[in-house]
Amino acid sequence: MNHSNPSFVIWQSQFAFGKPLFVLPIFLLSFLSVTVGSLFGGIRDTAAQHAVIEQSQSGQWADASFPIENFQGYTSPFGYRQSPTTGESEFHSGLDFAAPVGSYIRNWWAGTVVELSDHTACGTKVVIQSGQWQHTYCHLKGHVKQTSQGLVMLDRGGAIRLRKGQQVATGARIGRVGMTGRTVGPHLHWQLKHGGELIDPALVLEKMHEQQTALQSK
Ligand SMILES: [Zn+2]
Repeated sequence: MNHSNPSFVIWQSQFAFGKPLFVLPIFLLSFLSVTVGSLFGGIRDTAAQHAVIEQSQSGQWADASFPIENFQGYTSPFGYRQSPTTGESEFHSGLDFAAPVGSYIRNWWAGTVVELSDHTACGTKVVIQSGQWQHTYCHLKGHVKQTSQGLVMLDRGGAIRLRKGQQVATGARIGRVGMTGRTVGPHLHWQLKHGGELIDPALVLEKMHEQQTALQSK
């Protein structure tokens, strides 16, 4: 049984990148993930994902950064979908944000660069670890190479240089939208894991929105 019932709600919200405040619309996706949970043992159902989000970060969700500049819309939600390249049903492990090629990507939460690669379907990829949370950014511009200082992701046009092991602040520019890997249009594929298990990024954005709205009304 799969009640895949996305309900779309448009919000006008302001997420802090530091300065200036960034205005964006976000939608709320509510997916009942009964089937997801049973087929993919590592994926919690939606209620369990909400519980993780409620308990995490000591309620400091308003401090997190929206992950992209020049945001144009969400092109593919977390969950099952028809593959844009093969047409077959597949599980989409993240949330896709459309933005023009070259748009800067912002680090969602302060952490450490734990992985850099450029040879998979994800394209040029950055993975950052923030406590129990792991956030992955795919299809970036630039390439990854081994240097005397270790593994580095270079995007010279965007003046981005990230080193594996480097600390990155919340909201820092960590890359730009490109077309690397398996993609049919410029977008950021953003994946979140907590304790090694996937979390729907839309649920996290919803929580960030809720807390930032509450702060603004004080
Ligand atoms: Zn994606």
